[in-house]
Amino acid sequence: MSDSAFDVVVIGEGIAGLTAAGLLAKKGFSTATFEQQLFGGLVININELDPAPAGGEAGGAAFASEMTGANADAGVTSIAEEVTALAPADGGYTVTTAAGSYHARQVIVASGAKLKMLGVPGEAEFEGRGVSKCADCDGPMFQNETVVVIGGGDSALQEAVVLTHYCGKVLLIHRGNAFRAQQHFVDQVKANPKIEVRFGSTVEAILGGQMVEKIRVNTGAGSEELTVAGVFAYIGLEPNTGFVPDAVQRDATGRIVTGDTAETALPGLWAIGAARSGCGGSLEDAMQDARRAAEAVAARLQ
Ligand code: NAP
Repeated sequence: MSDSAFDVVVIGEGIAGLTAAGLLAKKGFSTATFEQQLFGGLVININELDPAPAGGEAGGAAFASEMTGANADAGVTSIAEEVTALAPADGGYTVTTAAGSYHARQVIVASGAKLKMLGVPGEAEFEGRGVSKCADCDGPMFQNETVVVIGGGDSALQEAVVLTHYCGKVLLIHRGNAFRAQQHFVDQVKANPKIEVRFGSTVEAILGGQMVEKIRVNTGAGSEELTVAGVFAYIGLEPNTGFVPDAVQRDATGRIVTGDTAETALPGLWAIGAARSGCGGSLEDAMQDARRAAEAVAARLQ
């Protein structure tokens, strides 16, 4: 096989992609992973995975790094290029990047998801100047200050607790009247005196000069301005699936629809993890998806 042709190409070096690629390489298939950013995907920004992965590192970056090293040892070719297109060709697929094109007999889409944006005035303008996507990385910049976290799911509650390790006060603003997060995160939030919860409220704008200084919040009864130094929106994820052919069905959120084995309606094209419709949001869900798809892909290739 040439150095641009593989049995399997896995798009995305998040935990799902790393898991599937490692398993397939260990079975003897020539396997490449493509990653446009840093390996590890969303977990890279999590200091303490909760629950910690069985037998693995509890820190997100260390866990991903451990898997990346094991994959290299197993013979996975890691290619640091963004996949821009994917098209059926010669009984498999052509994988196109800005730097070139590759052929794969089977392709696993494990491109994950990114944090959704609020879409309010000031959010893009103050990115990196108070607006952050990473509580663990940027939390230490807000020592003893007040920050706001927006959202009512696992991410918002978990990261609100992380921020209390650094900040004086964490405002947790949720548009609904009840959280949808796991109970143990709700309990941690309730028990933390540094977190002030505001239900039924939405952030309308992020305001400031050089740095974030305030947010304007709609409380349902009107608007009020609150002084904050940092803004962390954890309002869900949107899948990175723009390069996947239009012929592949998506659900209403843009995630790829597959059958039980994680294969799409296009034979030999599979989707796993946060990019797949119906995959649960936990690390274990992503890894289970990866194991199941790797078995099915291996069976197809034999
Ligand atoms: P999520 O579960 O989709 O929750 C998003 C939250 O943001 C919801 O409370 C939603 O409100 C709110 N929201 C959505 N759009 C909004 C908007 N435009 N303005 C204001 N609020 C908005 O997202 P997530 O918390 O990021 O979690 C994603 C997945 O990862 C989930 O499956 C989760 O279980 C998983 N996860 C697991 C762990 C863990 O196990 N340790 C940690 C983090 C995440 P409504 O409730 O009103 O819809």
